[in-house]
Amino acid sequence: MTAVGPKRIPGLRRILDRMRRVARGLPEKPGAAERAKAWRDANPDRVRDYREARRDETNAAVNAKRADPSTLIGAKRAAREAARQDQSCKHCGETDTYRLEFVHRSGERKLANLSDMVIPACYTLSIFKAELAKCDIICASCRRVAAHAKRQAADAARRRKQFGEPTQKTLDEPAQPEQPATTTAVYEPGAE
Ligand SMILES: [Zn+2]
Repeated sequence: MTAVGPKRIPGLRRILDRMRRVARGLPEKPGAAERAKAWRDANPDRVRDYREARRDETNAAVNAKRADPSTLIGAKRAAREAARQDQSCKHCGETDTYRLEFVHRSGERKLANLSDMVIPACYTLSIFKAELAKCDIICASCRRVAAHAKRQAADAARRRKQFGEPTQKTLDEPAQPEQPATTTAVYEPGAE
C-alpha cells in the first residue's frame, strides 16, 4: 500500500491508517480525536471562521458556474431565462419575469421537471431546450389556481372510484351524496 504514493494525496496516509485500525479492531489513535476536540472547544471562533470560509468558497464556485453560459449548467439557465424574457402569463398577462414559471402543456409528454434537468449532464442543452418548448409560461399565482383545480378534480375522481359513478338519482338530487346525515351544514365535501 505504501507504493500508492501517500505523499501525493493529502490525508491519504491518515485515511489508510484509520482503515487499518478499523479493519483490525484496533482502538482509535490514542489522544488524536480528543486533542482535536479540545482544540475545537478552545477555538470556537476559528472553527466558525473556517467553516464559513469554506462555505463561501463553495457557494462562490457554484454561483460562478451557474452564471457562466459557457458551462452546460450556465447555458441551460441562460436558455431558460431567454425563454422567459419579454413573455407574459398565458392566463392573466403578468409580465414580471421573476413571477413567470414554466408549466408543461397538457398533452405534452414530460421528460422531467425543468429544475431537475439543469444540473445532470445527461440532459444536454438541446434536450433541455426541447423540454422548454413543451411548456407554457404561467405566473406563479395562476399556477396555484390551476394546481388547486387539478387537486379538486383528482379528489372528485378518487371519490368516484371509491363510491362509484354517480347514478342518475344522485345527479337529479345533487345534495352531497356521501355526506353523513349527522354532519353540519358547513361541511365541504371537497375539503380534507
Ligand atoms: Zn397569471
